[in-house]
Amino acid sequence: MKTHYSYWLKQALADDSQKIQTLNGNIDADVAIVGGGYTGLWTAIELKQKQPQLKVVIIERDRVGSGASGYNGGCLLTWSTKYPTLKKLFGEQQARWLVAESERAIFEIEQFCQQHEIDAELRCHGSYYTATNPAQSGGMQPVIAELERLGINSWQSTNPQQLPGLTGSAVHKEGYFSPAAGSVQPAKLARGLMRVAQELGVEIYEQTAMRKLSETQPAKLHTDKGVISAKQVVLATNAWMLDQFPEFKRNIVVVSSDMVITKPVPDALAANGPQPGATVVDSRIFVHYYRDTLDGRLMLGKGGNHFSFANKVSPMFKGESRYRALLERSFAWLFPQLSTSDIQESWTGGSDRSTTGLPFFGSLHGHGHIYYGLGYSGNGVAQTRIGGKILASLTLGEDNAYTRCGLNQGPRGNFPPEPLRWLGAMMVRNAVRRKEHAEQAERRVSLIDRWLAELAGPAGKADKL
Ligand SMILES: Cc1cc2nc3c(=O)[nH]c(=O)nc-3n(C[C@H](O)[C@H](O)[C@H](O)COP(=O)(O)OP(=O)(O)OC[C@H]3O[C@@H](n4cnc5c(N)ncnc54)[C@H](O)[C@@H]3O)c2cc1C
Repeated sequence: MKTHYSYWLKQALADDSQKIQTLNGNIDADVAIVGGGYTGLWTAIELKQKQPQLKVVIIERDRVGSGASGYNGGCLLTWSTKYPTLKKLFGEQQARWLVAESERAIFEIEQFCQQHEIDAELRCHGSYYTATNPAQSGGMQPVIAELERLGINSWQSTNPQQLPGLTGSAVHKEGYFSPAAGSVQPAKLARGLMRVAQELGVEIYEQTAMRKLSETQPAKLHTDKGVISAKQVVLATNAWMLDQFPEFKRNIVVVSSDMVITKPVPDALAANGPQPGATVVDSRIFVHYYRDTLDGRLMLGKGGNHFSFANKVSPMFKGESRYRALLERSFAWLFPQLSTSDIQESWTGGSDRSTTGLPFFGSLHGHGHIYYGLGYSGNGVAQTRIGGKILASLTLGEDNAYTRCGLNQGPRGNFPPEPLRWLGAMMVRNAVRRKEHAEQAERRVSLIDRWLAELAGPAGKADKL
């Protein structure tokens, strides 16, 4: 397997002395988890914390953190801006619970890292949600009013005059701040969770891919050098799930997020950068998101550039972004005080975008001993903590708020089949680009672009009520 690790994972592995352990031989397990990303790791940790005697095993086809969990922007964000979609899908009470749970997850992750001495550069310093043009302005107010009515609003309006100083960019015209957010070195978080899972007794086998799953009782997970017989199985393989279980192919579109990071520019950031440790997100559908790092770099990401034909996942994680020039244009626009020559590196990864913009969980083919969770849609750093609780609770056969949660009803809708999906995605992507370009220039958007852009759905911006 040819591997291109993200900037973060290379950095995390350089500080990591953990030896690679692969599976050699046949073993039994109470619970076998496939996938060494946040979802698999949190599930394992939750299981061991609840029932320490369980034998829990994780297999990861590459290194822990080599999927999205080591590739992402490290922006810890919540579902508060998705409240309208949550309410539409699951009703007010459940939506309220999910928003509150996503905020709780942020502080739980912070506390967990402190308690277990995970040095993941985590800073819960909040998030700015902004509008950069009149078309984007006002989108958050109705959402905030609803959150306020329910007593769960954490957003406060920011004085527009102070926004450039707080966000490090003069393009923001309107902004809201929530303290329930932050930033983290994502791969260090994944590797730290791996260490804690092992300390709790979880066996972790890297470079051990599941090639086939026999849906027997116990289930058999076939790898190149051994078979795991497991009473319970959790599939936490993100969009790679679609490679082995093509029935999910129409529930997910794999779409890239592309990122650039500068060399250390601490003086420039101290003078004109965003608030240290805070994340900044604009209101585009193909959102810009950025933050600083502890060693004085600036990271900028942008979603929605490349759509994978037939949902091939691995080629999406191939290192250097093919959209670097586009990101450089965004960078120059956002940060004229910096130079694009400060950019040290770019990379790209694929996000599992579901039809709702929310993850879904369920049992595979109705089996009561095989569970899965995917579809975080680019919002998973904090939300995988909830995913881990859902999957652990399902595995343990518990009846609680997590097993009764609205997300635990399998996929909720299909994208069209190929080649229509890819062609449609291209049409929508291009319409969104034209629309967002016109809006930024305060030009009129054509009706057809407006209509096509609506099809992109709510991800990346405050949902409409
Ligand atoms: C480029 C990018 C930027 C993002 N930015 C943000 C952000 O700033 N904030 C945010 O909240 N979210 C962000 N996300 C989303 C977030 O990273 C994900 O939702 C989250 O990491 C998903 O975790 P996971 O454990 O479900 O998946 P992954 O981390 O992808 O883990 C799945 C693992 O399964 C392994 N695997 C697959 N198949 C097999 C097999 N057959 N056998 C064994 N192992 C297998 C893979 O190698 C992988 O390590 C971003 C995503 C991407 C791609």
